[in-house]
Amino acid sequence: MKPKRSSLQWLTTAVLTYMVLAFAWWAIELWRQNDRLLAASVQVLVQKYRRDSLNLDSDALRETAEYQVLLDRHRRHRRMILSEGIFFTLCLMFGLWVINRAARREVALARQRRNFLLSITHELKSPVAAMRLALETMARRALNREQIEQICSNGMRDAARLQTLVDDLLLAARLEDNWQPQPEPVDVSAVIQDCVANAKVRFPKACVEVEIPANFPPIQADRLGLTSVVQNLLDNALKYSPPDAPVRISVTPLPGRQMRLTVADQGVGIPDAEKSAIFEKFYRIGNEETRQTTGTGLGLYIVSQIVRLHGGSISVCDNYPRGTVFVVEL
Ligand code: ADP
Repeated sequence: MKPKRSSLQWLTTAVLTYMVLAFAWWAIELWRQNDRLLAASVQVLVQKYRRDSLNLDSDALRETAEYQVLLDRHRRHRRMILSEGIFFTLCLMFGLWVINRAARREVALARQRRNFLLSITHELKSPVAAMRLALETMARRALNREQIEQICSNGMRDAARLQTLVDDLLLAARLEDNWQPQPEPVDVSAVIQDCVANAKVRFPKACVEVEIPANFPPIQADRLGLTSVVQNLLDNALKYSPPDAPVRISVTPLPGRQMRLTVADQGVGIPDAEKSAIFEKFYRIGNEETRQTTGTGLGLYIVSQIVRLHGGSISVCDNYPRGTVFVVEL
């Protein structure tokens, strides 16, 4: 969603317009004064010739050397007004553009921080409250085996959610702090299976299809980093899809590279206008007050940073007939 113009931006635009108009007015005024100066100087010249008893007509006057000097000065002043006017206007516009851009960034950052605080508060409060309620229920009531199992499984899901949140926060902080991948041979298939098993704790009804060629060779990558990439993409695919919509993860060899990882879902999809912004830190589509899904806006930032630090690339496109496809090339 495109942010609304803030009052600061309106003010900057108003000041910019005023200054450009004021500059234009001064330039026109100087231009006219230059014309008036020429006319006055010509009058003085004519008077001088008359005093010297020379009555020149206008053609003869234009031929005189003194008139040419006045004309040259007039043209020089015109060029000066024009070039300096353009130069100062460009400098002014550039300066105001820089200020405007900084202001826009500041507003976007403040909005993201606010969104982050709102979402993190919610993300921390709800699993803690749910776990507390579960423990209180177990302490107060005599429950049968089946009920205890149900409460434990819900508790594990909440704990897994908290664990993911804490892992994301730590990893985001480390990425800010010059994190570098530690490459080692990694079995991609095993990483994907682990991630699917983790996802099933949080999304018990998840239907995930994995497609990876038999005997796919290990790739050189940071094990934790790669796990985080797969986990975040898979969790998002499940989170932003209806519970019964299947998610497909496939790995294929890529000439000149190690592999291409594709995560395709049949969920809500991502509007074209948002496709590049979703990789920004704390960016979430929509508005925190009205958004239904949980999250912090850190997942895709972490994914894109890890992929970038591995020298790889990530792209996003629409799935057909609906949903999203993320493609990571390492
Ligand atoms: P979040 O914690 O909000 O999921 P992410 O950084 O993982 O943060 O994603 C940023 C935003 O991108 C999400 O808020 C969501 O709107 C959108 N998004 C990410 N993955 C998908 C997907 N598979 N389908 C639809 N929207 C997605």
